[in-house]
Formats: sequence, structure tokens, C-alpha cells
Amino acid sequence: MEKYGIPQSLLPGKAYINGTWVSEKTGKTFKVLNPATGELLGEVPDLGAAETEEAIGVAYKTFQTWKETTAKERAKILRKWSELLMANQEHLAKILTLENGKPLTEGKGEIGFSASFFDWYAEEARRTYGDVVPTPAQNKRLVVIRQPVGVAGLITPWNFPAGMIARKVAAALAAGCTTVLKPAEDTPLSALAMAQLAEVAGVPAGVFNVIPCSRPNAASVGKTLCESPLVAKISFTGSSATGKLILKQAASTVKKVSMELGGNAPFIVFNSANVDAAVKGAILCKYRGSGQTCVSANRMLIQEGVYDEFCSKFAAEVKKFVVGDGMQEGVTQGPLINERGLEKVKRHVEDALQNGGKVLCGGKPHSLGRTFFEPTVISEVSNKAVVLQEETFGPLAALVKFNTEAEAIAIANNCRHGLAGYFYSQDISQAWRVAEQMEVGMVGINEGLISMDVIPFGGVKESGLGREGSKYGLDDYMEMKYICFGGI
Ligand code: NAP
Repeated sequence: MEKYGIPQSLLPGKAYINGTWVSEKTGKTFKVLNPATGELLGEVPDLGAAETEEAIGVAYKTFQTWKETTAKERAKILRKWSELLMANQEHLAKILTLENGKPLTEGKGEIGFSASFFDWYAEEARRTYGDVVPTPAQNKRLVVIRQPVGVAGLITPWNFPAGMIARKVAAALAAGCTTVLKPAEDTPLSALAMAQLAEVAGVPAGVFNVIPCSRPNAASVGKTLCESPLVAKISFTGSSATGKLILKQAASTVKKVSMELGGNAPFIVFNSANVDAAVKGAILCKYRGSGQTCVSANRMLIQEGVYDEFCSKFAAEVKKFVVGDGMQEGVTQGPLINERGLEKVKRHVEDALQNGGKVLCGGKPHSLGRTFFEPTVISEVSNKAVVLQEETFGPLAALVKFNTEAEAIAIANNCRHGLAGYFYSQDISQAWRVAEQMEVGMVGINEGLISMDVIPFGGVKESGLGREGSKYGLDDYMEMKYICFGGI
């Protein structure tokens, strides 16, 4: 990593428990590889259930003092953490791009996105107001206060190695919770770099603990977090399949849970749309992170009147992409995270072609090999294709033609997922109608990029429970307590 000019201090290469950098007791480690080149980036301790128990114990003990700090004190630390992220933006973006593969410009954007959550929750920490309830009894006075839930166990995915951590940790710490984080196997380096900056920002020992582990250990680390009576809350971001398992495990101790799970976003272009704007939005929405975001457009439904125009303009833009190593200047599309990811894209492309699809561009693994796949556009796809039900998580746009608004809504809602949904329309009545009818947690109207710190991010159906970001995000880390003053 030295050749990239990243300071060694941001690459501790160890786990972080109780403010101390620790190795696995048996010396077991796992490798972190660059998905673009296969280069070994580093080795990280491979922790298990025992170290997770230890970190939970530390977080529980620290909670007793952290919860007593004032919101103003916590806000000061969060703001400092945000400033440090921005001061180290270049270095952190390189770490992120090296382990995740996304282009460096996107990596920088993600560090800015991450910092914005610390900034936002530094402000919101001071607004966790309670309530005074008008009393129905003359001798009683009724109030509601809000308190932190306790230790929060956090499990995050690889597709936003910093952003998904920031969105959870900032809210948890603002509320007064302490945390134990398990980052994804593919991207632990960003998490550890963030821990290093937490220390500099003044986050007390034991408030933020990081437990890296390999995929074979993920189940036992996750189970320990979910079943420990000392953990009050689980916040998970990842696939719906893993989310369901975590939900079951967390039920054993009746924990508060937040689930940010898989998406399968519909992206609808109506006849009334500004097609050029729709093409621009679709490019951002579909291909950011090579299509590996939970809010990526997955089911692209185009009305017959603008179908041909949209297809040709969209494919022409996709052909302009530059595929390659995200560290190289000018690259717009990085690799997929690993071979499993590539295999899924291949399967969805083959299935779309069997369901009537015609390749407008791409369609096969890229000549760069390894985990690279050509940015692909397939038209004339029937709505029986598997891409209409499953999230591809890759650079495939399968364009389905529809006739009526009702048909588009029926296709969009015929899905067990409901995270984000997008549509393009210049018809104001249609805009209201469709936005209200879409079974999703977030809607983009004439907009393909909707994620930011101030909005409640989350889904319905099998896309999850709870919200992250915004003023609502704090609720997931706090409990209401009703207090009755009697004998007045
Ligand atoms: P995943 O396989 O579910 O992994 C997510 C996290 O869970 C990783 O840290 C993983 O560890 C861990 N994990 C895996 N099995 C576990 C187990 N049995 N117990 C506890 N933890 C376990 O998801 P992914 O494929 O990496 O991530 C992509 C998915 O995340 C997509 O479906 C995407 O839509 C979703 N996502 C949702 C949001 C949202 O906000 N709704 C945001 C981003 C991504 P390992 O890395 O070691 O396997």
C-alpha cells in the first residue's frame, strides 16, 4: 500500500477493541485483495465469537459512562470525526477504491457522503427531545423522555465500505449508544481506517469497536452479536437472505432491529418524460458502483411511445464508459467485487436473452478478465425474465416495454422488495399517482440519485425495517420512556 502514498497510520492492519489495536490470539488472519488486479492489499486478524464476546463486554461497560455524556460533548466528537474524514479524503478514497474497486472519484464521493452523516448527527444529537403529555388526571403529570438503547451491534456490506458504517455509527453515538462493528470480509480496511480517525477525534475507548472476520467466521460473529443479552440493538445492511437469518437470531433476545436489505428498484420512463433527462438519470442510477448499489435501477420499464428513443440514446451513453481499474484516471466503471458477483450477472444476462432480449451493447465478461463485465444494455426483455424478480447487482440494464401506467405499476409492485423506485414524467397528476402507488420506501421523481444524510433511507417488504439518516434515524437507537409523576 506504500506505493499509493497512504500513510501507515490509516492502515493499522489490526482489530480495534477497547481503544486498543489487537491481533487474533491464534495469529489467524485473512487476506484483503484488490478486486481489479488481484493484488494482495494486506492481511487482517480473523476474529471469532470469543473476541466478539470480549468487545461486547467492553461496549456494555463503556455504555454506562458514554450514556452520561451530554449531547453537546458527543456532538463535538462527531464533528471532529467528520472533519478528519474530509481532511483525509484522498487517502481514505484510495483505500476504499483499492479494496472495493469503484472508481476513485466515486470513492472520494463516498468519503464525503460518510462525513456528512457525522456532521448531520453532530447536529441532531442535541435535538433528541421528549414530550410533556397533557394529563387526564389532576394529581398526575406525564412526560416522555428518550434514552439510548445500549450496545448496538452493527453488520455492514462491502458495496459502501465507509458509507454504510458512517450511517449507523454516527446515529448510534449521537444517541448515546456504544457499538461493535463487523465489517464485510472484502472491505475491512476502510473500517479500520475510520477507527483510527475515531481515536484521533476523541471517541473514548470502548465506544466504537471493530471486529474484522473472514466469511467462514461471519456466522459465529453475527450469532454472538444477535444472541448476546448485553447487545440491545442490531443494525444490519446486506442481503435479504442474511437479514432474515439475523432477524431470527435477534428474536431470541427480543432486540430492537434495523434491517437495510436488498433492493430491486423499478425505473419507469413514461411517454410524458423528458427522455434526455431520463437517460441521464438512468446512467447514474444503474451504473454507479458498476450497478452494485442497493438503490440501483434493476427493472427498467419504458413506455412504448418513447421506447426506441430511450433505448438508442441510453445505449449510446453506455458505450462511452471506460472500464478498468478504479485507480486509473478516466475509468468510469470498475470491476465486480468478486467472482460470485460476476457469475450472477452472467446468469441474468443469459436468462434475459432467453426471454426475448436483444443485446444493444456489452453482454459478456470484459476482455480485462477476472471480475470485469462489460456494461450491458439488453432491449425487448419480457417481464418473465429473472432480472424482474432478483437484484442483479451488476452492470446489466434489461429494458422492458410497457403500454399503460397501470401495467407499469403492476410490474413495479409485483416484487417482494421495496427499497427505492424511480420514474420520469412531466405530468404532475401522474407524478402524484405513481409516487403514491409505488410499494417502496423511497421514490425518485425525475431524479436518479436520491441518497443523502438528511433523508430517511430504508425500504418496505423484504427490503427492510427502520430508517437510517435524517431526524428519524435516531429513533432506531433510542427508546421512549414514559414517566408518571403521581401524588401532585
Ligand atoms: P451479505 O452477504 O448479506 O453480507 C452483508 C454482511 O453480512 C457482511 O458483513 C457479511 O459478512 C455479513 N454476513 C454474511 N453472512 C452472515 C451471517 N450468517 N451472520 C452474520 N453476518 C453475516 O450481503 P452482500 O451481498 O455482501 O451485500 C449486498 C447486499 O446488500 C445487496 O442485496 C444490497 O442490496 C444490500 N444493501 C442494502 C443496503 C440498504 O441500505 N438497504 C445498502 C447496501 C447494500 P461477509 O462479508 O464476511 O460475508
